[in-house]
Order: sequence, then structure tokens, then C-alpha cells
Amino acid sequence: MGFRTDQIHAGVTPDPATGAILTPIHQSTTFAQSSVEEYMAKGYSYSRSANPTVSALQERLATLEGGISAWAFATGMAATNGVFMALLNAGDHAVISDVAYGGTYRLATKVFSRFGVDFTFADTSNLDEVAASVTERTRLIFTETPANPTLKYTDIAGVSEIATSRGIPHAVDNTFLTSYFQRPLELGADLAVHSTTKYFDGHNATVGGAVVCRDEKQAEEIAFVQNAAGLIMSPMVAWLTLQGSKTLSERMERQSANALAVAEFLEAHPKVISVTYPGLASFPQHDLAVKQASGFGAMAWFEVQGGVEAGKRLMRSLRVWTLAENLGSVESLITHPVTMTHADVEPRERLRVGITDGLVRISVGMEDAEDLVDDLAQGLDQL
Ligand SMILES: *Cc1c(COP(=O)(O)O)cnc(C)c1O
Repeated sequence: MGFRTDQIHAGVTPDPATGAILTPIHQSTTFAQSSVEEYMAKGYSYSRSANPTVSALQERLATLEGGISAWAFATGMAATNGVFMALLNAGDHAVISDVAYGGTYRLATKVFSRFGVDFTFADTSNLDEVAASVTERTRLIFTETPANPTLKYTDIAGVSEIATSRGIPHAVDNTFLTSYFQRPLELGADLAVHSTTKYFDGHNATVGGAVVCRDEKQAEEIAFVQNAAGLIMSPMVAWLTLQGSKTLSERMERQSANALAVAEFLEAHPKVISVTYPGLASFPQHDLAVKQASGFGAMAWFEVQGGVEAGKRLMRSLRVWTLAENLGSVESLITHPVTMTHADVEPRERLRVGITDGLVRISVGMEDAEDLVDDLAQGLDQL
């Protein structure tokens, strides 16, 4: 089936007991067994291990991403944690994109480093650097593309080739473009990681995450950790994500179109020093963005004249845009990464990877493009 059909129907059928068209929220810790002999005959025993509402979402996510299975996690970070726990042991080494979600950097440097895992934060947009970062002990390459917040792209097929030739799994954080615009597993990656908090939910209602697998053995390892460490998504969140995901394609299309309109406006504005959006011809990796994905997404960033102070003043004066962490929702959001999402990344590391103090990140929502542009225009006029 096509993506639009799958995002509505994959994983769900009318409830056999009542005909309810929406999968019920199976808000139950445990599941009655008819006899000891028939333990688990219906597939469920305890909701940390598996829950029917969560299973429905998992099946949908696997279908949408083209994987053999998907595992839903309490948050996007729980999903990344699940990948690390499943694939890394003490003494191992992993290569991670140097620009990545701040929480990924924190998990690696502040948690897994305590357990004897080493990390190299490499410029994964440079394939030679990826190859040079791999050591005898490397057991995972974890890339994020486009990367949060600078939008640096990594060539998924190129990194996957390096990974595969050395027998190392390649996981791609596909949160920014989602399965609708970007297909890491079809480009050779082994695992796709999502914060479903963002576009799959799309309505600022939940935090959630997912890992999609294409290899049976890795799928079992991820599932084992999901249960062992208690990382599974809750039934209520799975239900909300099942509803949100039904309109994923339409939201991605509209939000991306809005993002292009906003980016073009900003690029032409005299008070804006630079604007970065993959759909602009001025984007340094525009060719890769066109080649690798079927859309540019709805994230952009820009710098205004007057530095951090002007940026803060702009964020205060906006009415349609909301100053808030998070991204991907129908509501347009504006963020200051240095004080908000990436505050835990050391200043030196931030600057090295291009997260400057004046960087303003925007997540473009589904409002009327004219209103988003007009609001930015009145804010910029006040500078
Ligand atoms: C938000 C985000 C995460 C973490 O997801 P949570 O649901 O907030 O835990 C991971 N990767 C990327 C790219 C993100 O934007």
C-alpha cells in the first residue's frame, strides 16, 4: 500500500470485540491467562513486556519505515538508550555525529562513558572522517541527519557502506525528516531511531520514541533491552501517536512548504545575517538534501544582526510563534539552542560544530504561512 494508506491503516483493524474503529487504549498492567499451559497464548502477559495498543503502533511504524519490526519507547532518548544498551559493551567504541541532539551527546558522555564505552564525535558529513574514526573496537555508528540544530546532512548510503564493510551496525536518527521524507533502511542503514514526540505525534501531546529494525537478531536485542530496562512506551501515548501519525504525510508537506516560505522571507530580510534551510539553493549541502530525501522538512535556523541580545528581543516580541523547546508540532516554535536544547553541550564543543550563541532555531508549524511571515516581520522591525 502507499504511505498515505499505511499511515492510517497499518497495525490497526476494528476491535474484534466491539467493532470500535480506533484501537482501544489497553490500559491494563496484566493480562489474564486461561491456564498455566496456555500462558501467553494471546501474546500478552505484562505491559512492561508488551501491550496491544503499543503493538499496534509498533506495527504501523515498522510498515511506514520499511523495517521488519519496530519497538516503541517511553521517549526518543529511551529509544537511543535502547540502541546503546543493546549494541555496546564495556570496552567498546562508538562513532556519533558531532552535531546531534543535545541529549544524545549527554547520554554518551555523561552516562555510557561511566560504563567504559568510548565515543568519537565525528563530522559524519565527511566520509573520510567517518572511516578514520572507526577503530578495532567500534561497535556502532550513530548518525543524525539532518542534525539538530545546525541541519548538517550525513550521506546515509555512504556511511552505511563503510559500516557494512566492517560489520558495524549503522543507526540513523531519522526524527527530523521521518519515514515520510527519508528512508534510512532503504539506503543501507540497519536501524532507524525516532523521537515520536516530534512529527509522528505532531500535536505537542506526548513524549515517545521508536527504533525500527531490518535485521532479526538486532530486533531481538532491542526488544530484550526494551523489556529488561523497562523502556517501553505507555498505552495512552501509543494511542495518541496512532492518531497523530494518520496525518503525518499531510503535516510534513504543509509544514515544509511553510518552512520554505519563511526561509525565503528571512533570506531576503536586511536584518537577517544568514538563514539555513535545506530547501534553499544557498544551503551548502542542497544537492545531498535533494538526493537523499524526498522533502526538506520544517526545521530552519537563522542569525539576526545584533547577536544574542537581538535574537532574544526578537523571540520576546513574537505572537504567533511560541518560545518553547520541542519541534515538529503543528504549532510553530522558536528556540534558542545555546540556552535551551543544547545547554548541556560544552561551549567549546558547541562552537566547534557551529552552534553559535546567536543561533535561533525555528520549527515551522501548520498555521497560515502569511501569518508566520507577518509575525517575524513585525518582530524584526522592532530590532
Ligand atoms: C527530540 C529529539 C530526540 C530526543 O527525543 P525525546 O522524545 O525528547 O526524548 C532525539 N533526537 C532528535 C533529533 C530529537 O530532535
